[in-house]
Amino acid sequence: MRRGFKAQAERQAAELREAAGCSDTETINLHRLAAHLKLEVLAGHRALGDVQPFLDLHAEQPGAFSGATFHLPGDRIVVVYNPVVYESGEVLTARAAQTHGRTRSDVAHEIAHLVLGHKLREIKTIAGYPFLTCDPEQEEEANWLAGCLLLPRPLLLRAARDKEPDDDLAQRTYVTTDMVRFRMNTSGARMQASRGRGRRA
Ligand SMILES: [Zn+2]
Repeated sequence: MRRGFKAQAERQAAELREAAGCSDTETINLHRLAAHLKLEVLAGHRALGDVQPFLDLHAEQPGAFSGATFHLPGDRIVVVYNPVVYESGEVLTARAAQTHGRTRSDVAHEIAHLVLGHKLREIKTIAGYPFLTCDPEQEEEANWLAGCLLLPRPLLLRAARDKEPDDDLAQRTYVTTDMVRFRMNTSGARMQASRGRGRRA
């Protein structure tokens, strides 16, 4: 990742969260963020009018499709996510998707590509369906910014100071436990919290 990107991502995430009316320790409502950015967020089967392609893809390669962004006439930008749950193959309702950790990661990832101004480059085909993907560097950046949006440093720091278990934090903020662990470790929040405790002790 390019130099300075990680710090930039924390700042950008903080600004975006604030613009979405979310404090730096609250769980972010991604639909509110999308509305602020004038984006639409839609389940794949609502966008296509058919759930079968997503079930076919799931049968072929579960998790192959996570999300994509479409630029439509009339300046519409639509973020589409896979409605099929990777682990179970069930189709999420729109309401359930709003609190489903993996779906939220996928939507945040797409939003991150947009705010970072990434351009689509490659086309690959899975089960006969074409997909546009970004280059690996841009994927990494989008993942990183998505993590900052969902779990910004101040939120992590407070949780670490409160010794909130990772599973509890994941449930409260509607993210996966893997995402909590990743962010706790890579942001340095856990280490900072334990150093703070050391000083007070
Ligand atoms: Zn991507």
